[in-house]
This record gives sequence, C-alpha cells and structure tokens, in this order.
Amino acid sequence: MQFHDSMISLVGNTPLVRLNNVTAGIQATVLAKVEYFNPGGSVKDRIALRMIEAAEQSGELKPGGTIVEPTSGNTGVGLAIVAQQKGYKCIFVCPDKVSLDKINVLRAYGADVVVCPTAVDPEHPDSYYNVSDRLVSETPGAWKPDQYSNPNNPLSHYHSTGPELWEQTEGKITHFVAGIGTGGTISGTGGYLKEISKGGVTVVGADPEGSVYSGGSGRPYLVEGVGEDFWPTAYDRNVTDEIVAVSDKDSFQMTRRLAKEEGLLVGGSCGMAVVAALRVAERLGPDDVVVVLLPDSGRGYMSKIFSDEWMNDYGFLEQAGDAPRVGDVLSRKEGGEL
Ligand code: PMP
Repeated sequence: MQFHDSMISLVGNTPLVRLNNVTAGIQATVLAKVEYFNPGGSVKDRIALRMIEAAEQSGELKPGGTIVEPTSGNTGVGLAIVAQQKGYKCIFVCPDKVSLDKINVLRAYGADVVVCPTAVDPEHPDSYYNVSDRLVSETPGAWKPDQYSNPNNPLSHYHSTGPELWEQTEGKITHFVAGIGTGGTISGTGGYLKEISKGGVTVVGADPEGSVYSGGSGRPYLVEGVGEDFWPTAYDRNVTDEIVAVSDKDSFQMTRRLAKEEGLLVGGSCGMAVVAALRVAERLGPDDVVVVLLPDSGRGYMSKIFSDEWMNDYGFLEQAGDAPRVGDVLSRKEGGEL
C-alpha cells in the first residue's frame, strides 16, 4: 500500500516546472519551484515543521503546549497543521484589517484567533504587539516561534529547499531568485546552494519597490508577504548577490499572466519574483538555469489580484507607459501579512 503517515510527511519535495510562455525571447532555462504543493498551500509549511520540532527537542515546547504567534498568513496555516497533528494548541494574533476568510482558514484547522484593533498605537494594551506578548506570558506552556528571529526558519530551507533544488537540477542551477519577507527562504536556500556549488550559484532577491531590502524607506506597497520596513535577523544579507526592486503593477500583471499563460494560479509575491527572474534571465545564455521560487497559491487573492475591479481601482490593468492613477490610493498599506 502506498500512503503517507500524516499530512506532515507531505511537507517539502515540491515540483520544479519550466516556464514556457512568459519567457519568450529568453535563452536561459527558467524553472519555477511551486510551493503551493505543500499541504498548507505555501512554502511556510517547511519553517513551521522545523521550528516546532526544534522547540520540542530544546524543551521550549512541551507536550500539550500552546503556540502563540502574531500571524494571519501562510505561517499560521503551516503552524496550525503541524500543531494539530502533534497535539499542540495554537493562538494566532492578527490585526482587524485581515479578511474574515483568512481568519476562518486558521479557525478551520482548530486554531484560536485573537483579532486586535489596527487603529491603536503600538504602546496601547490592545495593540497587536502587546496582546501577543501578554498571551505568551499569561498562557501556561506558551511558546512563540517568532519567524523573524528564529534560526530554524532559514535552517529549514538550508536542509530542505536547497538540497531539493540541487538534486532536481542535477547541480546545473546557475541562478536562484526568491522574494524576501523574513529572509528565511533566500538565506537558507541561497546559502546552501552557494556552499554546495562552491560559489557557482548567483542568488538574487526580489523586493517590492519601497521596501528596505532594495534601499527603500519602508513606503507602502500592496504585494503581500514580502518586503519589510526593518531588517530581521532571519535574513543574512551576505547571501544575496543582487536585489531587484519590482513595482506592484508589474508584480500583479505577471501574476495574472502566470495563470493565463502557464496554468499557474499563484500569489502576488510569485509574480514579483518571476519579474525579477526574467530581468536576470534576459542577460543570460542557453546554458544558464534560473530557478525562481513561487511561495503560495493564488486562491487567497481572488478578490484582489484576480478581480478586474480591484486591479482597475489601482490603475494596475493599464499598459506600461500609461499615466499612473495610483498615487494617494497607495497610502493605505494592505501588505505584510506573513
Ligand atoms: N511570499 C509570501 C506570500 C510569503 O508569505 C512569504 C513569507 N513571508 C514570502 C513570500 C517570503 O518568504 P521569507 O519570509 O522566507 O523571506
């Protein structure tokens, strides 16, 4: 009989798929690592598993313990699945701007979700930050993974994503491209690939225009899950050789093309990473192999990126060269749900 012991053993070993149409005119081979094949639908299942198993081994997380993390996105789903399978409770803290659909996904897996008001100062007792800290100190057996500073975030990629790519490409990979959120994916995967190839792999970070990684001031952008207004310790800046800044408009237009032209219904940070990968691949020859990592599925973005109305409101459907209509609309920050 062929079966898996539980959903946990399905984490990782995601497929590599060649991009055939958005790559017109490019000589290099461009391959996508499609992370929505993980059981929770994103790359974050990898870090959830390793952070939890390391905390079990160190004794920080004890049987029957409670995982508390401020997250409303992919990390929450990964943690919720692993926690449920291993008998831990989960409490996620998220701001009230998060859609009810996302909150209900976490609740469906059995997690508790505490929703905090967005319109209060960080020092306010009801703020997102204070509520999660208070829950950790008041809940017996509580443990906070903290993906931004947890070394097992990049380490999960060093031990899984990196070796998978080296094996899948039979050591022929020449360039690795990924978006940077916490920095875990690019630091761990890129670090492993540089080591095993003895410096033969070039690592390129993709970043939303405005984020600090590409020299921005932290100004708002709409692509979710990537970019920051501070430098997390999970990010090792020595690993990236180059950072490519990509606009929201380019990211979202490419995200829609990936569905229409490649059959890949993926999220906005995937479109962003592909734009960066194609900019790099344009300069390369037929022997080069560029791998771009696609973190999640497009299902969570149907009422945004895949809605013509939403795209039109921001002027994102216009062709390049048209007058921008975005401007003040962009002052409301919606991104950054990790
Ligand atoms: N895209 C999405 C949709 C994400 O949720 C994340 C994780 N924050 C990333 C990209 C970036 O990954 P990392 O945190 O490993 O840098």
